[in-house]
Amino acid sequence: MPKLRLLLLGMLTVATVSATAQAKPASPWGPETLQQLRHLHQAALEDDYAYRQAAHLTDNIGPRLAGSPQAAAAVEYVAAELRKLGLDVTLEPVSVPNWIRGEERAALISYPGQAPGTQQKIVVTALASVDNATPSEGITAEIVVVNNFAELAAMPREKVAGKIVVFNERFDHQMAAAGFGLAAYGQAVAYREDGREAAAKQGAAAALVRSAGGAEFRLPHTGETGYNPKLPSIPAAAVAGEDAELMARLAAQGPVRLHLVLTPKLLPNVVSYNVVADLKGSEHPEQVVIVSGHLDSWDLGAGAIDDAAGVAVSMEAAQLLKQLHLQPKRTIRIVAWMAEEVGIFGGKAYAKQHANDVANHFAAIETDLGAGHPVGINVGGDETVLKLLQPVADVLSTSGAALLRSSDETGADVIPLKVAGVPTFSPIQDARTYFDYHHTAADTLDKIDPRELRENAAEVAVLAYALATMDAELPRQPQPVPDWLK
Ligand SMILES: [Zn+2]
Repeated sequence: MPKLRLLLLGMLTVATVSATAQAKPASPWGPETLQQLRHLHQAALEDDYAYRQAAHLTDNIGPRLAGSPQAAAAVEYVAAELRKLGLDVTLEPVSVPNWIRGEERAALISYPGQAPGTQQKIVVTALASVDNATPSEGITAEIVVVNNFAELAAMPREKVAGKIVVFNERFDHQMAAAGFGLAAYGQAVAYREDGREAAAKQGAAAALVRSAGGAEFRLPHTGETGYNPKLPSIPAAAVAGEDAELMARLAAQGPVRLHLVLTPKLLPNVVSYNVVADLKGSEHPEQVVIVSGHLDSWDLGAGAIDDAAGVAVSMEAAQLLKQLHLQPKRTIRIVAWMAEEVGIFGGKAYAKQHANDVANHFAAIETDLGAGHPVGINVGGDETVLKLLQPVADVLSTSGAALLRSSDETGADVIPLKVAGVPTFSPIQDARTYFDYHHTAADTLDKIDPRELRENAAEVAVLAYALATMDAELPRQPQPVPDWLK
């Protein structure tokens, strides 16, 4: 999720409605549909289709960086699986960046107390951007360690010019452990996104950011970093938290020089695809409920929790409806988005391609915060929607997912639709450990608990079918279009 700070904008002012405290309005679902929803919920909790899909995407196909052969294979695989279920599948073209990681290494080559003839390795990983490589032989410069943007801005330019700035902003573990993982990430990721520009403004030779997450065991966290054509394009990378601490301690003792080699390349864009698969509605086939996750991932791990899990639970929703012969009134559209990580390319392309049809998009669900136990539904809408959905929450209560919360955390790929007024939804997932693995080499299948994945699949399937069968309209609230979407 690259544009995290955009998602975080209203998350600290969320309204919640308890599962039981509401006066009940007339239900948009009759008794027969509510029975179908309960049945669907139960069936999902017993089915392993989603897990098998997540396993294939991560173990067999592997990392799915946009533009890579694995991303192309994943498109073909998901399209074929959804065709097997009898869905009407379209591959919608998306022009995506083709970023190649290259070589990445760093070492401290001089520092206080150094034993003669030795160096200290720094665990580093390149951040994806435009033009952020070093020459192939690397660069060598003194480091300047800062804890935050304010410290850097307060330094005289001559103290920074020609040096390598190290941002040592620490991830707030307590905040994440208290259930605010996304907020903790939002604070840390600001340095990954904007650190390069802030360092370039001060004339730095390169920017290194402490990994934006809670990862330990010297795991670096990759991701996007900003690019400003008005500033010099300096190399940028992330270092493991332990190495940021090491550099901070040594730099406090005296001058420290670092050698840095980064050879990422941004090749010309290639054509990839959003996988778009329709299970046609019986009464309003033109009206669409999107059920989605993003198919691309970063390249260090296998993209299991980010976001094979989201794609897999979306596929599971279609699989269960077919298996149980449940026919939605509106069309349920499974979407596996392409190139979310490198800048929400699939989400933006879809909104453009369907701009004339946005009014027919009844709702959009995205799952993109891992596979942790869901406690309810994030609703990108107000109290009216929360009250309408109370019967759905009642169905989900048996798996502990009855919380309805008004929130902006409804997934990055559906932001363009949300801005256009489409009501958006996502599971409220337990993300206490998500940012320990997110964007690192440890995002692998074992981080998905099969039972918790089934709980997510159950919630998404129930919510999707409920939205696609409800006898009520959802309020639509178009928003001003943010600059990055223009
Ligand atoms: Zn993601």
